[in-house]
Amino acid sequence: MSDNDFVIIDEEDVKEETEKKDVPGDSVSGDADKQEVAQTEQTPGDENDGRDDGYEKICYICHRPESVTGKMIELPNNITVCPDCMQRSFDAMTNGSVDLNRLMNMPGVQFLNLSDLENMQPRQQKIKKKKEKPKEFQKLDIRKIPAPHKIKARLDEYVVGQEYAKKAMSVAVYNHYKRVAAGTSDDIEIEKSNMLMIGPTGSGKTYLVKTLARLLDVPLAITDATSLTEAGYIGDDIESVVSKLLAAADNDVEKAEQGIIFIDEIDKIAKKHNSNQRDVSGESVQQGMLKLLEGSDVEVPVGANSKNAMVPLTTVNTKNILFICAGAFPDLEDIIKERLQKKTSMGFNSELKDKYEHDRDILSKATVEDLRKFGMIPEFLGRLPVIFTLKGLDKDMLVQILKEPKNAILKQYQKLLALDEVKLDFNDGALEAIAEKAMEKDTGARALRAIIEEFMLDIMYEIPKDDSIGEVMITREYIEGTGGPIIRLRGQETLMLES
Ligand code: ADP
Repeated sequence: MSDNDFVIIDEEDVKEETEKKDVPGDSVSGDADKQEVAQTEQTPGDENDGRDDGYEKICYICHRPESVTGKMIELPNNITVCPDCMQRSFDAMTNGSVDLNRLMNMPGVQFLNLSDLENMQPRQQKIKKKKEKPKEFQKLDIRKIPAPHKIKARLDEYVVGQEYAKKAMSVAVYNHYKRVAAGTSDDIEIEKSNMLMIGPTGSGKTYLVKTLARLLDVPLAITDATSLTEAGYIGDDIESVVSKLLAAADNDVEKAEQGIIFIDEIDKIAKKHNSNQRDVSGESVQQGMLKLLEGSDVEVPVGANSKNAMVPLTTVNTKNILFICAGAFPDLEDIIKERLQKKTSMGFNSELKDKYEHDRDILSKATVEDLRKFGMIPEFLGRLPVIFTLKGLDKDMLVQILKEPKNAILKQYQKLLALDEVKLDFNDGALEAIAEKAMEKDTGARALRAIIEEFMLDIMYEIPKDDSIGEVMITREYIEGTGGPIIRLRGQETLMLES
């Protein structure tokens, strides 16, 4: 037998090569034995009939699939070898660097006799192709930004109520990304649509922005204005918001430049009244933000929060970054009431005075003038042209939030228990009781999760213990601690549990 009949395979090398080439997540790892492998009896011609049977060839030596290695080389007896392994084998043979006699005795080296292949049955010659994952979250394309009503329709799937806010936001975002796409080719420059959201805590301000950024698939940085101070003082520099965005965009400057920066608690940087100290975290932060909001080049550190000699810097232009500021503005209501009352008390209809005292929707009557009185400087407000308010959530909205959005809390628990083949339900009384409890806490929808988690703990702990339980119904009595949930055993009648 001549030397040419041998293909030399160094298993260690092949393994190393395989590991290098495998892209995590999308390729099939070298250890094909663990995968779903189809042992197919192949008949000649069966692979060339052009039909995709959902399987693909794998290399006899390194076990990588054809989608990773490129076209396989066919050897006798339906054995396929990838071009890499074939090339390595020939290289080792032809460059003379291999002393075949020494190799024979080396651990980890196998010799494959090509003529033996005739009598060999292939081990695994095909593996199941990886299916593309279905897209579970349809994103919007900012280059072909959909009309405002379509953006709002998508927001509706997740956010309950807040109709005006969703509408205002959809229009602002639509205009903003249209402006980005249009560029500045002529003299008319469209103004930026930075936004200011006013609304009580837990009314969905952050949630709206998060949902929007996810829908548009743009990076989002969320910061708290309370941590910001004028440069040089203790606290975060104003520019740190841009480095956060850069980090959210995986340090991709171009992506960051089309992102969204959300600054919460913006009311905390109002001008301090009657203060004779230097206002480093109030008015001067507003001053410092003017340039950012408008659009300027900012030098930010890459991969770090603060600038120092060791960190490389990059320049991010904020011209196309959408800024959304939000705050609860707690004393703004009084300012609005005062203004409205002053107006009415001058006329004949001073009986209207009381009306404003109990108006739940008083925030929606806020004007720029009121915000100035609150302590926001006019230049700052001028750079946030889209101002709108969110309503405080009432009981009905809280009930809806529990059960209606696409990823509602109840749906999450139902899915968890469904995995144990247990059906979970909440009757109307239970939902109302949860909403009532949340209203007492006065933190909007934020309280809902905490309340549910508290009593679901027992359910989630007890139910998997007992295989015979088929259905659980949560009742008002269970939420209020005066009774238990209704349990139905598989194939049996209802049982009422004592709490
Ligand atoms: P804030 O207005 O204080 O920023 P958040 O947006 O953080 O409040 O709301 C807290 C949580 O409450 C959110 O994560 C979300 O799950 C829920 N939530 C609040 N408002 C709504 C709403 N209108 N629709 C659906 N869920 C909401």
